Amino acid sequence: MKIKAGFIFLLMFCLQACTMSKMAVKPSVEHTKQTTSSKKPRNIIFLIGDGMGLTQITAGMYMNHNRLELERMPVIGIHKSYSIDDLITDSAAGATAFSIGRKTKNGYIGVDSFGKRYTTILEDCAKNNMATGMVVTSTIVHATPAAFLAHQSGREDYEAIAMDFYNGNCDLLIGGGKKYFDRRVKDSINLVEKLIEKGFTVSDYFQEDFENIQIPNVNKYLFFTADGDPLPASQGRNYLAKASKDAIQFLNSKNKGFFLMIEGSQIDWGGHANESDYIISEVLDFNKAIKEALDFAEKDQNTLVVITADHETGGYVINPGSKFGALTTTFSTKKHSAAMIPVFAYGPGAENFSGIYENTEIYNRIKKLLLD
Ligand code: MG
Ligand code: ZN
Repeated sequence: MKIKAGFIFLLMFCLQACTMSKMAVKPSVEHTKQTTSSKKPRNIIFLIGDGMGLTQITAGMYMNHNRLELERMPVIGIHKSYSIDDLITDSAAGATAFSIGRKTKNGYIGVDSFGKRYTTILEDCAKNNMATGMVVTSTIVHATPAAFLAHQSGREDYEAIAMDFYNGNCDLLIGGGKKYFDRRVKDSINLVEKLIEKGFTVSDYFQEDFENIQIPNVNKYLFFTADGDPLPASQGRNYLAKASKDAIQFLNSKNKGFFLMIEGSQIDWGGHANESDYIISEVLDFNKAIKEALDFAEKDQNTLVVITADHETGGYVINPGSKFGALTTTFSTKKHSAAMIPVFAYGPGAENFSGIYENTEIYNRIKKLLLD
């Protein structure tokens, strides 16, 4: 009897071990059933809170009278953020999963793990005669926006990424990083002048404050909010919400459908700095951009809004003793963590974003809705 029970236990253990090893080699994306919707959006606003895990969202909410615009989003899913060779992704591989639908190596931008370039969702939209744009609070050549318009295996090769931006096709760009365009170390090419020749209207923080301007009714528009990285929100940077609203208006006025990527870039930097206040002020700044996107989508009724993060940063935790408006927090790392990441969706096709799926599915589902 005892031997029999032991045998059954062993058999069950083997069976379980087999199933587990199967799970490990078989990508779970094959098991995900995709619900399809007949209603397709005309526009998409894709918002990425870099490093915005569930705790970052929670902290922003509890420090904001228990309220965030994200609560207006009816559909919620979860994505698995890992990159092809690391359970902990970086922003390059994370954004590339969204932009080309392929897991790649950390540090890679718009290319797969062999360095092969793939057309990004933004480039696909441009090819399909949609208007395209990006608004960020980092430099516009930083990993997240770069993954949508550049193809490089070195995320820090900012001048090469800027050249890809010049050669690419995007109607509107707002973010920092002017120096990678007009004071290039390697080739001394003035890409600002060349972009103007190409039909861009270019302005920057040095000529005018973005807060005081109206985007002119032009063909293509680029505004540099800083020479390098823009300031943190806590030090006075406050263009994200206005830039998001103006970008939506600018792209929508083209009247051909649009793809807009908006990034709250510095939530991640607060995580790396292990500074809770930095994270919270950046989440609340991003929250205002989300409001602009949702206010437009509600009125428009033809716009899909998808909001997610590439990964969590800091292993951020809200500790016992915390209260609304007074959080005690700790961090487990200065780097990113491997936690799965929430996805929020609103608008036509939003129901496609429920469930648990690979980060690459966000590309697949957006592409299916917009371009199939
Ligand atoms: Mg980023
Ligand atoms: Zn990071």
